[in-house]
Amino acid sequence: MDNSCIFCKIVAGEVPSHKVYEDGETLAFLDIRPVNPGHTLVIPKAHYKNMEDVPEAALTAVMATVKKVGALLKAKLGVLGYNIGENNDPIAGQLVPHLHFHVMPRREGDGYQLWPQRSQEASEADAVIAKLKS
Ligand code: AMP
Ligand code: ZN
Repeated sequence: MDNSCIFCKIVAGEVPSHKVYEDGETLAFLDIRPVNPGHTLVIPKAHYKNMEDVPEAALTAVMATVKKVGALLKAKLGVLGYNIGENNDPIAGQLVPHLHFHVMPRREGDGYQLWPQRSQEASEADAVIAKLKS
């Protein structure tokens, strides 16, 4: 446990949460500022900062819970789909440095916006691939 971490405090029961699902390694609870009703955060109970920090076995357990939560939201809240998000590092919008996946229910006309996209020249794509392979 990281004593300065709000999500560790939720795991420890020191901060209240609306629990959606729990097992030995993972916890799912409602986001306090939801995009939509049912917006759920899924975390490993152990403190890992981000995707580089988490061991694969713990990540596998977290993703299994993400899958369960998605199915639960569809079955019980009547939503037709959901977005899964993980903001990795502060530059990407990660405010809480304890790995978490957002599971965000989608409803018709909810106004939720996906990230902006743009076109790309082949030369840019080629340069990216060259760097990744170097
Ligand atoms: P991120 O920007 O990906 O780090 O998201 C952090 C999320 O944690 C935000 O959507 C917050 O609304 C949510 N959050 C912060 N504190 C709490 C809390 N005590 N209980 C539930 N959700 C929280
Ligand atoms: Zn933590």
